[in-house]
Amino acid sequence: MAKFLSRRSYRVGKSATGLGLFANVPIAKGTRIIRYWGPKLTSQQADARDNKYMFEINSRWTIDGSIRRNTARYVNHACRPNAESDIIGHLVLIRAIKNIAPGEEITYDYGKDYFNTYIKPIGCKCASCVAKRKRERAEAREKARRAKMRAARKAEKSKPQAGGIDGAAKGRGAKKASPAGTKKQPRRKAARVGKARSATKSRAAAKTRPAKKKTARMLSRAA
Ligand SMILES: [Zn+2]
Repeated sequence: MAKFLSRRSYRVGKSATGLGLFANVPIAKGTRIIRYWGPKLTSQQADARDNKYMFEINSRWTIDGSIRRNTARYVNHACRPNAESDIIGHLVLIRAIKNIAPGEEITYDYGKDYFNTYIKPIGCKCASCVAKRKRERAEAREKARRAKMRAARKAEKSKPQAGGIDGAAKGRGAKKASPAGTKKQPRRKAARVGKARSATKSRAAAKTRPAKKKTARMLSRAA
C-alpha cells in the first residue's frame, strides 16, 4: 500500500476555478501527495452516471471520484502542472513532479479528452493559460497602439499645411516612395502662404488703422 502525505499537509482553498487543493508544507518532487479514490465502476456504469469526477483507469474500469471524502477531487487541472496522476494497479495516485512550496496550489493535467470536453469550451483558467491570455491581450493592445500611431503619422503627412519643423517634414518626405514633386510642393507653398498671409495681415492692419483715424478726423472736420 502506497504511503501518502498526512491530511494536514494540504488544505482545500479558494482557487481561480472555485476550490482547489493547496500545499501547507513544502512538498518535495516525487512525493505521493494524495490518492484519488471512490467507487470503482465498469465503463458502462461510468457512462450511465457521467460526472466530471470520473477517472478512467483503463478501458474497463473507472473511478467515480465525486464522493465528498475524495479530497483529491479538489486538485485542479493545469496545463503546466506541478503534479501528475499515476495509475498503479487500480489505484490512482497524485505525485509531485516539482518541488511545491507552502501556499502553492497542487495541480495535474487532466488529459486531452477531459480538457477538450469540459475545459476548452469555457476557457482554461490555469495559471499558464491566464498568463498567456494576458500576454496576448497586451500584445494586441501594443499592436493597436502602433497601428494608431502609424495612421496618425500618415494623416499628419498628408495634411497640406503641416506647421511642423521643416527638417522633420523633409525627412518624412524623403522616406516616401510617392513622387517627390507632389509631396514637396504643398509644403513649400504652405511656408510661403504662411509668410504672405502674415504680411498681408500686417499691411491690412496698417491700412485700416490710419484709415479709421482719417475718417474720424475727416468727420470732425466736416462737422
Ligand atoms: Zn491551461
